[in-house]
Amino acid sequence: MSADIAPRPALPRDRIAVLITAAGRGTRMGSEVPKQWLALSGRSVLARSVEAFAGFGRIIVTVHPDDMDHAIGELGGRVTLVAGGATRSDSVRAGLEVLEGSDITHVLIHDGARPLVSLAVIGAVVDALAQEAEAAAPGIAVTDALWRGAEGAVTGFADRAGLYRAQTPQGFALSVILAAHRAAAEGAPDDVELVQRQGLAVRIVPGDEDNLKITWPGDLERAGRILRMRGTDMDVRLGNGYDVHAFGPGDHVWLCGVQVAHDKGLVGHSDADVGMHALTDAIYGALAQGDIGRHFPPSDPQWKGAASEIFLRHAAELARSMGYRLGNADVTLVCERPKIGPHASAMQARLAGIMGVEPERVSVKATTSERLGFTGREEGIASIATATLIREA
Ligand code: MG
Repeated sequence: MSADIAPRPALPRDRIAVLITAAGRGTRMGSEVPKQWLALSGRSVLARSVEAFAGFGRIIVTVHPDDMDHAIGELGGRVTLVAGGATRSDSVRAGLEVLEGSDITHVLIHDGARPLVSLAVIGAVVDALAQEAEAAAPGIAVTDALWRGAEGAVTGFADRAGLYRAQTPQGFALSVILAAHRAAAEGAPDDVELVQRQGLAVRIVPGDEDNLKITWPGDLERAGRILRMRGTDMDVRLGNGYDVHAFGPGDHVWLCGVQVAHDKGLVGHSDADVGMHALTDAIYGALAQGDIGRHFPPSDPQWKGAASEIFLRHAAELARSMGYRLGNADVTLVCERPKIGPHASAMQARLAGIMGVEPERVSVKATTSERLGFTGREEGIASIATATLIREA
C-alpha cells in the first residue's frame, strides 16, 4: 500500500482541546480596544478564531482579567474562560492546568488574533499529531531576502536558508506541553520554542499566508479583504437526521411537539417524539456536534420521560451560540397511521416556536410506505429531517 492511500490514523477530535490565547493588550494596534475584540466583518476577531475550531473536544480561552465580563458576554457558554497571567507563558500554563486529569490527550494552542486559520492548516497539525508527532506546528519557509538595517539603511544580511515564519495552531501531546511549561520557570515567546528546548522534535507542517496575525492597523483591513475573497462571509451548512420508535401500548403519540390521539403509543426513553428527534439530530449534524445521545445520554436517568423539546431547544441554542441561524427545516414522518395532515400546521408552529424562528422556515409532512416494511406493518414510526444553518457576517 502506498503512503498516500494509507488510512489516516485516528485521533478523535473530542480528545483534542484548543487553547486560544487572548489575554494580551495588543498595543501595536494603536486602538483603544484590544485587537482580539475588534470587529472583523461583523464579528470579533476572537469570536472568529474560536469558531474556526468548532467540533474539538474543548475550547479554552485565556483572557485579560479586565476583559472577563466582556468575554463572558461574547463567548460565555461556548468556551472555558481562564484569566490570563502576567506573560503569555503564564496565561498558556493557566489554561493547560485546567486540562490536567481530563480525558484530553492533545492540545492545539492558537493565537486569538489569527481569525483566518483554515481547516487545512488545522487538519495538517492534527494529522501530524495523529501520526505520533509529539509536537507539530505550521510554518512558512522564508522566501524574501533578509537584511539588517538601521536608520533607514542596510547594514548587513542574514541567510534565509532553513528559516521559517512560525504560525499557530501549535499542537502538542498534552503531557509534553504541560511538562515543558512546568519545567520552564522563565517561559518562552512561543510554545514550540519551549518544547524544542526540552530536546523534543517539532514537526513543521504547511502554513498559510492568509493565516495572518492581526497586529498592525492595516492587518484588519487585509483580513477583511481575504474574507470577502474567500466568500466565507456566509457559511451554509446542511444536516440530516433519522429516527425510529416502535409502537407499544397507549392512547396517544407525541409527534413534532403535538399530542395526537392514537390506539397505540410510541416506546422510548424520552417522550419518543420521533419527528423532533430527527430534526434535533439534523441540527447537531449541520453543526458537526454529534447527536442527541451525545448531549443527553440515555444512560442518564434525568432524561427518562423527558419532553423532547428540551433536546430541540438545546440544539437550536447551540447553533445560535456558534453564530448560525436556521435557514429552513423539513421533517417527514413515515407512517400509515395516525393521519398527520390534520396536525401538520400545529406541528409546524410548535417546532418553529421551540427553535425561535418563523413558521415559514419549518415544513412538516408525512408519507406512508405503501404498507411495506416495519412502518407499513404499523410496528413503528420513522422520521427523516433536514436542516440548513446559515452563518453570516
Ligand atoms: Mg429517538
